[in-house]
Parts: sequence; structure tokens; C-alpha cells
Amino acid sequence: MLETHGLGPELFISARIRIDDFDGTEFDTLEPSPSGVGVNEAYKIAIEEVFSFDIDALRKYEADGEHKNRTPAEIALSLAPNASPKGLSKLTNELVQRKLDCMMDQIGKPLPDGDLWPRPIPGFLECTRKIEAAKEAGALITTAIISAGHNAFIKKCYDVHGLAYPDIMVTDETINGLYSTQPLHRLTKPSSLPFWLVKAQWVNLFADNGEDFADLMSSPSNTRMVYAGDDPKKDAGLAANAGIPFVYIDKAGNTKLSWQTVELVLSLGSVALHEK
Ligand SMILES: [Mg+2]
Repeated sequence: MLETHGLGPELFISARIRIDDFDGTEFDTLEPSPSGVGVNEAYKIAIEEVFSFDIDALRKYEADGEHKNRTPAEIALSLAPNASPKGLSKLTNELVQRKLDCMMDQIGKPLPDGDLWPRPIPGFLECTRKIEAAKEAGALITTAIISAGHNAFIKKCYDVHGLAYPDIMVTDETINGLYSTQPLHRLTKPSSLPFWLVKAQWVNLFADNGEDFADLMSSPSNTRMVYAGDDPKKDAGLAANAGIPFVYIDKAGNTKLSWQTVELVLSLGSVALHEK
């Protein structure tokens, strides 16, 4: 197998990474879209169609607390607990496709107050633009997403605001291929496995070969990482399991302050000083 050639392992010591959840952390996708469809409503429409063979499916979904930041596979499994791995994969794919059909064309449409759906969570755009500026000034900052959502959806939201896409995305597409070999709870938050998939890709940006990769994976880097999320169990749990700093994005609180805390943890204020 060919060895990779990265930025060079000696640069890893000044590398930083911001890892975010997407829904409710970067964008308020739970707010219904201009046509009245939010993530929850889209799931309800999709469940009624995909699980049309089970008249109780929608009631089960509601009794389970609805979306609750679960992955599509978790939702499908809760509605069809006896499905085979192959059957679960098929139901999950159908659920995802139908849900996306409902939501994709709503991205960028104006809400009654003129804001575009989905609204960015206050503070997120500012933090992201500071990172983009720091990168342009030569800072080694990587951005990553760990989400049960989908690449096309996330990218379209970024397009609306002219943001560069996250460098690393671990989403339902990433995890989907692992459903048949790993138990679901190992693949989903608060399990740290999605974090390790991010870390491996981050480290690999700097490693020149397999030996570097192994060295960098085990070298201390946790203080140069931060994870932001809006779920006090799933997101905070992932950060705790991974042993990295966590910033809680609480929509009921001051999210601007939370995103400024993310900037502080990444020392964005001092970037230009020591890296230019
Ligand atoms: Mg979330």
C-alpha cells in the first residue's frame, strides 16, 4: 500500500481542531422550515410512508420522544426491533431518502421574519469566519463535524452562508457502512468511536507514513481539540468518553458566549501572533 504524504509530523504540535455536532449546534434545523417541515415533521412524514405496514409506527416514534438526536438507524431499529441487519439497512436508507426529500429544497428559503432556514445558531458564523481568517493567515486549524445528518444537507446549509465545507465529516454516510459489523450503540454518540474516526483523519493530514500516524495518534493533543454540541447526554458524553474539552451549545442560554468559549479554547485571539 502506498504511504501518504501529509503536511509533516513536526507541524502537528501546533495543530488545532474544532469538532461540532450539526443539528441544533451549528444550525437550528429543529425549527420548522418555511413550509412547516423541520427534522421532526420530516421524520413523521417519512415514517408514515416507509413503515406503512405498521399502523403503530408513528405512535411508537412519538412515545419514544420523537427525534431526540437519534441516528436514522436508531429510529428504524426502535420501530422494527426484529429486523435483520439487511432489513434494517434497507428501512434506514428509505427513511433517510424520504426525510431528505422533504427537507433539502427548504434550505435557504426565507422564514416569515426574512431569515433563511435553517437559522445559524447565534455565534456559530462568527466563530467559523474567525477560523477561516486564521487559516488564511496560516494557522493549522481543522474543522470537523460529527452528526447523524447527511453530507448533502450539511453542505447546502454551508453554501447558503458562503462557508467553506468542514474539512472532515463523520455523518450518517460514514457510519452506514459499519452497521453490519458493529453494534449500533458503538457507532452512535455518546460512544467515542465517531470521534476516533475524526481523529484518525486529522492525524493523517500530518503523517508522512504509517509510523508517523501511530506516533501522532498517541501523542498528547487533547488540549488542542474542542467539541461543541447541544445534547447534554449524547454530545457531552462523547466528549467525556473521548477525554476532550466540551462546550455546551444551549439554545435556551447565551450561545454567542458558548461559541466565544470555543474560540478561547482554540486560542483564536492569539493565532496571528504566533503563527504568522
Ligand atoms: Mg444536535
